[in-house]
Amino acid sequence: MKTIFAHGLPQFSARRRRHLSRRAVVPCPLVRHRAGLLEIRVMCSHCPHYAEAGSSLQCWANYGSPKLWKYRPGPMSRVERALFLGGLGAVWGYPLIFLLAGTQWFLLAVYALTSAGFFATLKTYLCSQCMNFACPLNSVQDETRQAFFERNPRIAEAWGVVSRD
Ligand code: SF4
Repeated sequence: MKTIFAHGLPQFSARRRRHLSRRAVVPCPLVRHRAGLLEIRVMCSHCPHYAEAGSSLQCWANYGSPKLWKYRPGPMSRVERALFLGGLGAVWGYPLIFLLAGTQWFLLAVYALTSAGFFATLKTYLCSQCMNFACPLNSVQDETRQAFFERNPRIAEAWGVVSRD
């Protein structure tokens, strides 16, 4: 039975807490599916992988996802960035609601640590080498970007980059 405590957080029965924590560790597939479609529209359609041959992505992260929209080289718009970051927050923040409501502090700590490890690994080893410069997480060094633009004039033009020649 649910009761509301003075600090405002609901207290659930042990059965309900178990149910909520299961929902937290197995997030709703619909949330991830919708976020994946949004990600492909607002971010992947700017990625050079999207311009490769075939009707589905062949990249390391979204391999096999259908290319439903046209390739749009160049940076993401402010709206696209907001939608991407909002979607990212929804997917990663979704389990927090259930872990907090279910007072599953141990699982919350595990989730926080594994998420921190995941993003640290992503930023260090993958975002630093990814050719989608439009992504807000991209951290490729400037001189590497410049070298990429010199070899890919169409993309450089879409980014408004002037050749050094
Ligand atoms: S590398 Fe990343 S941005 Fe590029 S298509 Fe794959 S998932 Fe999308």
